[in-house]
Amino acid sequence: MRGKWMYFHGTSKINDKGHLEIGGCDTTDLAREYGTPLYVVDEALVRQRAREYVEAFRASGLKFQVAYASKAFSVLAMCVIAEQEGLSLDVVSDGELYTALQAGFPAGRIHFHGNNKTPEEINMALDAEIGCFVVDNFTELRLLNALAGDKGKKVNILLRITPGVEAHTHDYISTGQEDSKFGFDLQGGAAFQAVEEATGLKHLHLLGVHSHIGSQIFEVEGFRMAADKVCGFALDVRAKLNYTFQVINLGGGFGIRYTNDDTPLQVAEYIKAITDSVRTNFTKADYPLPEIWVEPGRSIVGDAGTTLYTVGTSKDIPGVRKYVSVDGGMTDNPRPALYQSQYEAVLANRAGEPAAETVSIAGKCCESGDMLIWDLELPQAKSGDLLAVFCTGAYNYAMASNYNRIRRPAVVFVRDGAADVAVKRETLSDIIAGDVIPERLRKSALTNG
Ligand SMILES: *Cc1c(COP(=O)(O)O)cnc(C)c1O
Repeated sequence: MRGKWMYFHGTSKINDKGHLEIGGCDTTDLAREYGTPLYVVDEALVRQRAREYVEAFRASGLKFQVAYASKAFSVLAMCVIAEQEGLSLDVVSDGELYTALQAGFPAGRIHFHGNNKTPEEINMALDAEIGCFVVDNFTELRLLNALAGDKGKKVNILLRITPGVEAHTHDYISTGQEDSKFGFDLQGGAAFQAVEEATGLKHLHLLGVHSHIGSQIFEVEGFRMAADKVCGFALDVRAKLNYTFQVINLGGGFGIRYTNDDTPLQVAEYIKAITDSVRTNFTKADYPLPEIWVEPGRSIVGDAGTTLYTVGTSKDIPGVRKYVSVDGGMTDNPRPALYQSQYEAVLANRAGEPAAETVSIAGKCCESGDMLIWDLELPQAKSGDLLAVFCTGAYNYAMASNYNRIRRPAVVFVRDGAADVAVKRETLSDIIAGDVIPERLRKSALTNG
């Protein structure tokens, strides 16, 4: 049997009843009270991760901002925690911006990302007076300058550049290579041209540059290479345009451990590599040390999340495979279907029992691809058992859908034995809340009837 203990993150443990406990709450109690599927967030672990970033930067002595990439998990309660922990916040849409503002997140610490911000989104962000726009392309550069001008404002920007560094990760989630929909290409000269143009635009104040080289990155080499390229670029810009960057943003992508195959570094190791490399590069060039920003998403919330499911049916195909189906699936966690992402799980109500068989966990959607975990070792699972899938805090609720008109689960935050709802489970009436039967269909329904 593989030791499952190593997938227990934060406050997760097995209690004296043999049940999985998170944040001092017995998960079988949580399932009974809130129903399943249920997202459980270990609040202490979220806060611990946030603090690891802040403390690693404090130790470096550099000026910094740690911006939580809210796309990983954007709900009001999470924005409040990010604010309380002194983080900044990245948003990529009006919806994420609205969530942050409604949570009372200080606008000055909000950064707006995205490769196709609409004029409406830009205006909303201008009115809210957010701290910084991360400009992705020339169209946006000119549009933002014009819209800021209409409002008589001058706004802070970073330019997103693609440094040509590709982090080792799954193809679909790597963005640092030149052939990317994101950012100004460094090698081809677009990045330089963008700086030249931005510094001449009256309503924009160029703080510096941004680079994000990928996701689920397990080494520091990619960040070092990106820091070198960005620094080289800063020197080039200073030499040719006599312009100095105040801010260097090295993005997110810090890895977490979903399974035993994943080997992330400690947060402090990533940050030390980044700050050391920036300090060395810029000091050598006699360049004023810029402020360093990073944007962790997954690594703030990923391992703090656990999804609880109730086991339903099973199907044993002798000599082939045994399927065990749960009451959720790709609607609450599309990542296995999208990226072949892997997860670990235990039976939460029998967490101390040894594995007895290898099964594959299927979701309940009408898609053969709706599988959550292939080849998972478990005690013999029975209908009514509780399955706990680990590391679902990032890009799960955020990517959840209503496919098959399945209701999105509730999210509860647990801490010190208390459980609090952060998102209510959708109701059946929520499912049709936006539906409208056009009048003419009602009429024809009447005449036909
Ligand atoms: C997605 C994203 C992040 C966060 O990535 P994680 O892998 O969740 O840390 C940070 N910055 C940008 C620009 C992103 O697109």
